[in-house]
Amino acid sequence: MFRTTITRTDGTSSTGTATEAHALSLLRRAERWEHCAVEATRRGGAIIERRMWEGGIMRTRKIDLEPLTPLGSITPTMRGALDAIAARDAYLVTDAVDIFRSRNGRICAGLESIPPTASKRLVDRSLVVLGTPYPSTSNGYLPETRTPVRLSLSARLALHAKDHRTRTGEPLGYVKPMDVGLNAIGLNKGGRRGGTIYDGTSAASCTCRGWAGTFERRMFALDQARIHRQEATAALVRTL
Ligand SMILES: [Zn+2]
Repeated sequence: MFRTTITRTDGTSSTGTATEAHALSLLRRAERWEHCAVEATRRGGAIIERRMWEGGIMRTRKIDLEPLTPLGSITPTMRGALDAIAARDAYLVTDAVDIFRSRNGRICAGLESIPPTASKRLVDRSLVVLGTPYPSTSNGYLPETRTPVRLSLSARLALHAKDHRTRTGEPLGYVKPMDVGLNAIGLNKGGRRGGTIYDGTSAASCTCRGWAGTFERRMFALDQARIHRQEATAALVRTL
């Protein structure tokens, strides 16, 4: 479940809740709308912003989606387990008997077998969603029950946002032209800034290593970083 906060173009807002299915359909629609951007958040939610003209003024309508159950921090071990679950048909084992009793409470994903305590933590924190249990066998004849496990929408959004952490560099500010490889005389005035030039360039990059650039001003870098995160989220939504 998600908490939704809708902020209308006139600044008024209202809150509500949305099921995972509803949140997913909102994200899919938003990805297709014109003048609309979606950005995943590290808390496992998303921000949908739609710009529209009203009375000759460009205004923004915003929907914030936030998981009702906070996901908490995701450790590298948890991340490994979630990646394994996302990559394969994973299932939770219960009702195993005899020598296979130790399988109970474990989530199996290919060769990965996630210990019961760690498995329970993933379920309790709504990082994974359980399907409908079905009867199976541990070794061909001893019975066990398997419950399909998949990543929750909030887990997918949180992992995606973690993979796309952008940073923008602090501009150098006033520098001696020679220090930045320029042959110029700089400002013609006394005091600290005399003989200097203003260097506002900002280098920006993303942890996905798929985006980087140098921008004339930091605000351009911040804008482009946000556009990169939104484009990456849109690509994710198209796969959901
Ligand atoms: Zn990225």
